[in-house]
Amino acid sequence: MPRVAFATGFGAEGCVLIDLIGREKLPIDIFTLDTGVLFPETYALWRALEAKYGITIRAVPPAQVIDKLWESDPDRCCDLRKVQPLREALRGFGAWITAIRRDQTPERANAAVVESDTKFGLIKINPLVRWTHDDVWGHLYAHDVPTNPLHQQGYPSIGCTPCTSPIVPGENLRAGRWRGVAKTECGLHVKGDK
Ligand code: SF4
Repeated sequence: MPRVAFATGFGAEGCVLIDLIGREKLPIDIFTLDTGVLFPETYALWRALEAKYGITIRAVPPAQVIDKLWESDPDRCCDLRKVQPLREALRGFGAWITAIRRDQTPERANAAVVESDTKFGLIKINPLVRWTHDDVWGHLYAHDVPTNPLHQQGYPSIGCTPCTSPIVPGENLRAGRWRGVAKTECGLHVKGDK
């Protein structure tokens, strides 16, 4: 079993890392938190990446599904569909890789390339923290990497269908996530225990 896992949500940055892992055939377990309410375009991209690189990207299901919980309690919904499943999925690994970049949100501005992840109890590796938006897209175009077509329709950051909306010019790239709610992260990259 690989000692390192990569948790991807199939964002542009995640596609860069899948391309690198796939082309170099690195012994890294790749999985995604399949909340069950991802966009059809995201599910199609998942299959396209597996086909292009000849890899399997494991689906990690929710701990519990409560219908439309995102409307009444999005933090609890993210905990059940993402945070708890991630904790289980990372059990037994020595390190996990993420695709976060420092300029995505204020919470990510101080992320290091290698951190001790006290929340999940292992090493966290963030290889793209110093990459810019243009670095990411330069790599994707240069290597003909499949990406989510929603990026060209106003969705720079794509999560679950009920909690993702397009942005307008001038908005933060993650402004379309949990729009209208005082929430910017699903809890996967927030330091410390909840
Ligand atoms: S992003 Fe929305 S639908 Fe997805 S787990 Fe979080 S609250 Fe639930």
